[in-house]
Amino acid sequence: MKQNNDKKVENLPTQAGFFGEYGGRFVPPQLTEALIEVEEAYLDAKKDESFQQEFRRLLKHFVGHPSPLYLAQNLTSKYGGAQIYLKREDLNHTGAHKINHTIGEALLAKRMGKTKLLAETGAGQHGVALATAAALLGLECEIHMGAIDVAKQHPNVLRMQLLGAKVVTVKSGGRCLKDAVDSAFATFIADHEHTFFGIGSVVGPHPYPMMVRDFQSIVGEEAREQILEQEGRLPDNLIACVGGGSNAMGLFAAFLNDPVSMTGVEPGGRSFKPGDHAATLTLGKPGTLHGMFTYLLQDDQGEPLPVHSIASGLDYPGVGPQHSYFKDSGRVEYVTATDKEALKAFSILSRTEGIIPALESAHAVAHAIKLSPTLKKDKVIIVNLSGRGDKDVDYVAPLLGIE
Ligand SMILES: *Cc1c(COP(=O)(O)O)cnc(C)c1O
Repeated sequence: MKQNNDKKVENLPTQAGFFGEYGGRFVPPQLTEALIEVEEAYLDAKKDESFQQEFRRLLKHFVGHPSPLYLAQNLTSKYGGAQIYLKREDLNHTGAHKINHTIGEALLAKRMGKTKLLAETGAGQHGVALATAAALLGLECEIHMGAIDVAKQHPNVLRMQLLGAKVVTVKSGGRCLKDAVDSAFATFIADHEHTFFGIGSVVGPHPYPMMVRDFQSIVGEEAREQILEQEGRLPDNLIACVGGGSNAMGLFAAFLNDPVSMTGVEPGGRSFKPGDHAATLTLGKPGTLHGMFTYLLQDDQGEPLPVHSIASGLDYPGVGPQHSYFKDSGRVEYVTATDKEALKAFSILSRTEGIIPALESAHAVAHAIKLSPTLKKDKVIIVNLSGRGDKDVDYVAPLLGIE
């Protein structure tokens, strides 16, 4: 597909939080006021030099930025085509990109005089990142998590507790992520005076898709500077996995007005049958969920469909509204990688480069090793390695025949 990458991208979202027709703020009236408060505080903090300096200081000295941009020479020679660079967000404190936006959210909460961070979590990655930021900045933290996820992701539950967070086990409904979201929203409505809702991706009602994107944009800003320094030119392709879309948006944001192709990789799972994947942009239709209008995997009644991915951080039936806009405008191409392809990429990257990637990030690597051999050797691909795979080894080892 020919990508529409000459077109200048306007400064989105609009004041009402729309990216084209997507985004917005579709919430019950009790929440509107609380969201306007967040929006106003964020727009004010964005202009405030001291807020930005403190955010950048913590990203540098606490998280470990700038993360390296690493030319994966072994992987590149194995496939014989375009050079593959890895943006090493796996090296961040806590092992993934999520810490970038949770620190931004915690700083904003403090600035607003809030005493508590509240969120839902699925696999627990966002909960751990938020609990880390809460501990750092002296805030209380309450994380809602479905009972099934609590049982499946026990190490992350322990991490959150060690970091001082209260973990609320949600026993209603399907006892998974969606039920945790409903439970956390209800708590927020009851106490938004003292509480800041820390959303875990570029999803939800305005201003979250914009705000989380801005906090994550450090990734693309660094990568752009680093590739200019190392190659003396811009890359040809950017590749990132897409769950809610925050690590992808963080990388893409700095290159939107450049002649650079961008690919978001969705989880193709076991098959394209409903319930077997979470390829929202590839197979979904627009609708409203969690306060936003965006592509969704939904049934005829507009109810979210069950989703699956080998990478629990990617199994979400929605996607950030800016990605929906980029899909329709053609600025970004969205493809899928299956569970099998991700698993294979996980193994290959571990063995060829000595880097064990998160299963989420392995989807992006899987696409890079498909694309590289189709391009000339002087082309440059940057893959966002959004996280490290330590969390996945117990699950992956038997699948790869390792006891
Ligand atoms: C949560 C997670 C993702 C998916 O979230 P996005 O918002 O799409 O970035 C990807 N990679 C890792 C390592 C994660 O923890």
